[in-house]
Amino acid sequence: MSRLVVIGAGLGGLAAAVTAAARGHRVTLLEKNDWLGGKAAVLELPVPGGNGAYRFDMGPTILTMPRVLKRIFAEAGRDLAQALPMTRLDPQWRCFFADGRRIDLQEDIGAMAASMEAFAAGSGEGYRRFQAIARQLHEISERFFFWKPVGGVVDTMDWRAQFSGRALSDLKALRMGQSMAGVVRKEVPDPQLAQMLDHFCQYVGSSPYLAPAVLAGIGDMQVSEGIWYPQGGTRGVATALESLAGELGVELRPGCAATGIELEGGRVVAVKAGSERIACDAVVSNADAIRTMVELLPEGAIRAPKHEPACSGVVLYLGLDRRYPQLAHHSFVFSADPEAEFDAIYRQGIPAPDPSAYLAAPSVTDPSVAPPDGEALYILVHTPYIRPGQDWQTMLPGYRRVILDKLARTAGLEDIERHIVVERHLTPPDIRDRYATLDGAIYGLASHGRFAGAFKPSNRVKRIPGLYLAGGAAHPGPGMPMVLMSGWIAADALHKDLAAQGAA
Ligand SMILES: Cc1cc2nc3c(=O)[nH]c(=O)nc-3n(C[C@H](O)[C@H](O)[C@H](O)COP(=O)(O)OP(=O)(O)OC[C@H]3O[C@@H](n4cnc5c(N)ncnc54)[C@H](O)[C@@H]3O)c2cc1C
Repeated sequence: MSRLVVIGAGLGGLAAAVTAAARGHRVTLLEKNDWLGGKAAVLELPVPGGNGAYRFDMGPTILTMPRVLKRIFAEAGRDLAQALPMTRLDPQWRCFFADGRRIDLQEDIGAMAASMEAFAAGSGEGYRRFQAIARQLHEISERFFFWKPVGGVVDTMDWRAQFSGRALSDLKALRMGQSMAGVVRKEVPDPQLAQMLDHFCQYVGSSPYLAPAVLAGIGDMQVSEGIWYPQGGTRGVATALESLAGELGVELRPGCAATGIELEGGRVVAVKAGSERIACDAVVSNADAIRTMVELLPEGAIRAPKHEPACSGVVLYLGLDRRYPQLAHHSFVFSADPEAEFDAIYRQGIPAPDPSAYLAAPSVTDPSVAPPDGEALYILVHTPYIRPGQDWQTMLPGYRRVILDKLARTAGLEDIERHIVVERHLTPPDIRDRYATLDGAIYGLASHGRFAGAFKPSNRVKRIPGLYLAGGAAHPGPGMPMVLMSGWIAADALHKDLAAQGAA
């Protein structure tokens, strides 16, 4: 039986550990924090005076593509529906525009097309065309990009099929050289509806003006499988995986930071955790891919590729003594000018003066998150990854004001300050330090570049036999479904490699 070490217990690390253990490997999982799940963490704030508590999912709140999680549970012969009951949410998001207009993003394409037609004449047919393109891009991603280790265009190619009619039509359908914003606007020119559709790109912390067309496929991933709320919150995804890993015999070691990866003759032989040395046949690193190469591998072992971090963010966790009936479970409060907003965040590297905010009001679905009639309101605003000289301790009070003023102006939350019972924050340096990310990036590496923007470091590190990568900064990218898939791909690749060497 081969021995594996997984470094980091984010969702990618947990998925890798579960998949490898289900395939019969002996797995040790090291996590520097004292909880497992990484960014899928939970924050509980008692009500002062002792009457109940507010419960916040601290990181991810929107769960899409549950079939990825289902496949990981199926590896171990388990049924996801039993392990983690979930509720489907529709409307998926409520959108608030700067001029006071609103629209709900609905799952059903026909119903959504009708709402969009009523919002801006001509948009209904445009939305149907957009979703048809998104479906095609999603299907191409499934064929070439998903469920296998990919680090560049060469890894996606099947040389025998390369010149077939289908391969050539897929290549054309990828719309290489076009941006996601360009694809959206060609079909749905209305600026507000386009701004809404652009926001699928925020799932990967990137600018739709710089991201490749293929990311429009996220639109189909969301409508075809829905948005889900796991019982107990998205933290439930981490706890369900943790339980499964325990059942499969994974040795779980929270509070244990890996400090290095040892190589012999260029291949992985052990992981160091302080003075401890854990011998192993292979390592899956769920720590940030670039930081793994720079900080954990011996100096000079590999040259880390140049990649731009994805955006960071500020989260306000507000325990309120009231609810706002205008909010859906998930809402977006949009900036007046998305081009200016994305330019500030992604080009200038400064917080947007008029930001878009994402709000989770989970008591709409799950009243247990707050005391009766209260709300555990979660507000996320994307910011640049940390730039030199930016001190968020001094910047936060002013930016908190900007965010609350925006919510008052655009979503009618005028009296929110008077209803805050408890409050905590997450800033870019917190994200960097809690989760050991690159410059505070929430979503790993940016998907910028109209040709190759979707490519990330491959899960199989070809230059270092025995080293595999999982997580938001590795293929296929960030967000819960993608990091879960990256963990599965890393475990599948190492399983095949070890079997080929006769070591599995
Ligand atoms: C505020 C916020 C909102 C988000 N919203 C959504 C959303 O709504 N929907 C969605 O799908 N996604 C969302 N995301 C993104 C999603 O949470 C991430 O893409 C995903 O959870 C990251 O998983 P990961 O496997 O990359 O690991 P991470 O969660 O980054 O975990 C990596 C783990 O590795 C550990 N580690 C690092 N170095 C070491 C070391 N040397 N030794 C031991 N352990 C180490 C870290 O402590 C950490 O626990 C959000 C993220 C944040 C922060």
